[in-house]
Amino acid sequence: MPELPEVQTVVTQLERKIVGKTIKSFWSDWKKRIFPSFAVFAKQVRGAIILGTRRFGKHIVIDLDDGYSVVAHLKMTGHFLVKDKGNRLSSAFTKDPVNGYIHHIFTFTDKTTLEFSDMRKFGWLRVMRTGEVETLPSIASLGIDALSPKLTQKHFQGLLSEKKKRPIGVVLLEQDLIAGIGNIYRSEALFLAGVLPTRRIETLTKKEWLKILPAIKKVLQRAVKLRGTSDGDFRDTDGLEGRFQRMLHVYGRTGKSCKKCDTIILRKKIGQRSVFYCPRCQK
Ligand SMILES: [Zn+2]
Repeated sequence: MPELPEVQTVVTQLERKIVGKTIKSFWSDWKKRIFPSFAVFAKQVRGAIILGTRRFGKHIVIDLDDGYSVVAHLKMTGHFLVKDKGNRLSSAFTKDPVNGYIHHIFTFTDKTTLEFSDMRKFGWLRVMRTGEVETLPSIASLGIDALSPKLTQKHFQGLLSEKKKRPIGVVLLEQDLIAGIGNIYRSEALFLAGVLPTRRIETLTKKEWLKILPAIKKVLQRAVKLRGTSDGDFRDTDGLEGRFQRMLHVYGRTGKSCKKCDTIILRKKIGQRSVFYCPRCQK
């Protein structure tokens, strides 16, 4: 599932590719995931000019010039593709079956398109007043963004300290505390910090506290630079895979040897999700 770096990749690319374009029409063959309804959505976006893009946690916001915004969530397998007039992208795009599940299409007046491919069909699009975007419950409930400069060491420790009996690996996934971290990056950040995901918050030493937040920021920033991780269906707006997967130390590497110490990487279920770790590098 796309996390902060993947969603940021999409937002950055859309900002470059679609701002200034005028929407001519909107088409969908999966209207169940268009809110408040397909008819309202299609009517509202028609004729609007795209002013800019923003990210809230894992939400993508596309602001229009008519006082409305499109809010999108990629969920499990959704991704946006920007295609040129000939409905083409690179050859990698056309050969990759993951890019073939197109369910929603914005056609611009310059004949280029913004398309939404989604194999599992859990992704959604909503149109709403720009001034109300931050009141959408799934956005309003988000905690501070993991890459926000306002997330300082003091703020981070303060937020997490309230959850003292709970494992650090579980707490990092709570979007109402810190937004943007999912399964991939919590495993990677805790590896980098040398802390086991099962450690209860109250047992963390001062030294460990000082390692965790910088590790989170470092892992997320590196992943943003490499256009995210494609461990499954994520593709960028060119239809290409991210490049962070080759940098992974523990996520998805169960049974393989640790790149640092050769110990076998283990996987454990905590709080319903699998977390990956090195039993030697992490204490
Ligand atoms: Zn190791």
